[in-house]
This record gives sequence, C-alpha cells and structure tokens, in this order.
Amino acid sequence: MPSYFMKVKCTECGNEQIVFSHPAMEVKCLKCGAILLQPRGGKGHLLHAEVVETYE
Ligand SMILES: [Zn+2]
Repeated sequence: MPSYFMKVKCTECGNEQIVFSHPAMEVKCLKCGAILLQPRGGKGHLLHAEVVETYE
C-alpha cells in the first residue's frame, strides 16, 4: 500500500497538522499532546484525529 501525507484535525483541541499515513511511532498533537495516530505496522490508526485532506 502506498504511503502518503495527510492533514488531520485533532478532535481534542481542533489543531490541524500534516502527518505521515504510515507512522513508525505514535504521532502526537503538537498543541495539546493528544495521540493522533498509532502505528499499526502499516497504515496508522486514527485515534484523536480526523482526516481533513490527503495528499496522495
Ligand atoms: Zn490537540
């Protein structure tokens, strides 16, 4: 599966940031520290985040 970047919105504070679709480590919100994405050995699992836009 090809990887890509996407813009996600933190569901805790509303901050938007660009993340990698297939993270090797947990991705945290830069503003409030909530976990946005968890690694799953492939595509990351969205936790406290929703996808706003993808850049494939
Ligand atoms: Zn946040």
